[in-house]
Amino acid sequence: MTRIAPPPPAAMKGAGMTSQRARDRLIERLRIGGIKDEAVLEVMGALPRHLFIDEALASRAYEDTALPIGMGQTISQPYVVALMTQSLRGIAGIDKVLEIGTGSGYQAAVLAKLFKEVFTIERIDELLRMARKRFRQLGLNIRSKHDDGNIGWPEYAPFDAVIATAARESIDPRLLDQVRIGGIVVAPIGPPGQQTLVRMTRGAEGWSRESLGAVSFVPWVKGVA
Ligand code: SAH
Repeated sequence: MTRIAPPPPAAMKGAGMTSQRARDRLIERLRIGGIKDEAVLEVMGALPRHLFIDEALASRAYEDTALPIGMGQTISQPYVVALMTQSLRGIAGIDKVLEIGTGSGYQAAVLAKLFKEVFTIERIDELLRMARKRFRQLGLNIRSKHDDGNIGWPEYAPFDAVIATAARESIDPRLLDQVRIGGIVVAPIGPPGQQTLVRMTRGAEGWSRESLGAVSFVPWVKGVA
């Protein structure tokens, strides 16, 4: 295994547009926007989002906006990351979380700071490689695989929660089957331009569903690249 040196402390800390002050301003915005979970705010206030995007865009890392990460994909808007993470908390016994759509790795990194075990699947190899490098640099314990998220990760199932960061019209039953009774799925559902963030809870008798608001995610795509 190759060892990767952590980024120099100055790069982690950031300066100017990537400084702690810029992060604090973002957290204030999230708070005003209605994010109430202090642990989520604390984690996002400490995590260097600028290390998850290309250096050329680093100055925009703490704007509350999605940004391109290459291969036609985006790092999710911080507000949406906060909302999705918050919607997994406050439910008893959520320890083991599976994310579909690693992308930059930022959402997985936020999850890893708050939940015991985090798994993530990405269909685009090049993005996954970069995300893995960031996980190592930041010392994050996240299991990842290059695969089509539709299949889930049966070897590690059941999961307490599945979170999808790409949108589709419905969730594959193979994936739903990997959620334990009492577990949840948080995912953007619907066609482009008409997506709703939903939280589905698996009861003994079936699934219940609540809406968390309108969102805009990249589409869920079949197969690997
Ligand atoms: N969570 C990411 C968001 C990335 S955008 C972040 O924090 O940066 C959504 C990602 O989902 C893209 O990288 C896209 O390649 C991936 N994706 C789309 N369909 C997928 C599928 N079927 N399986 C796994 N990943 C998928």
